[in-house]
Amino acid sequence: MRILVIEDEVKMAGFIRKGLEEAGYVVEVAQSAAAGLMLSANGEFDLVILDVMLPDGNGIDVARQLRNEDFKGFILMLTALGGTKDRVRGLDAGADDYLPKPFEFDELLARVRALLRRREGGVSSLQFEDLNMDLVRRKVTRGSQDVSLTQKEFALLEYFLRNANRPLTRTEIGENVWDVHFDNESNVIDVYVRHLRKKIDEPFNFKLIHTLTGYGYVLRKEA
Ligand code: CA
Repeated sequence: MRILVIEDEVKMAGFIRKGLEEAGYVVEVAQSAAAGLMLSANGEFDLVILDVMLPDGNGIDVARQLRNEDFKGFILMLTALGGTKDRVRGLDAGADDYLPKPFEFDELLARVRALLRRREGGVSSLQFEDLNMDLVRRKVTRGSQDVSLTQKEFALLEYFLRNANRPLTRTEIGENVWDVHFDNESNVIDVYVRHLRKKIDEPFNFKLIHTLTGYGYVLRKEA
């Protein structure tokens, strides 16, 4: 799940980034309208968190421009407390939701989850064979057994589930789960896949994550 935060206040942007990353999202920050529009054009984001007051423009104009450029993800505007006009104009410009500043981080997180649920068309869990991921409560079960995952393992498994049966290269996994382009020497992904397998595959009858030699990994059921 990739989120772009367009916010010029360094402290606020850092606070949002840290919290979202701890919740398992991949986050990029832009500190101006121009940088935000450039990043959104180059990266595929599921959600943009957009501040209304930016040094080089207004968040409302940014929202409109994102929609004009056919941005398909969600836009969550951060508005000033009591800024009713901003909210109405923001929603009219293509924002999906707004949150007045100052806010509790938990509320931001709840709204992010609510928006992402909406994208699933109300679907709040991902299922593959006997593996289930509850996206709302962030719980994973295989068969009747609960599986406890770290945030990063959860994000990795979510990416596998969203791309079930599709061979994934290490590059794709790195960019979508870590937002990093690991060099060929790096074995970070392999290490995490190994951890994940220990939890979701090894104790069970059949394996779901398979290695594709010289390519990457795939989540699928093999006969
Ligand atoms: Ca600002």
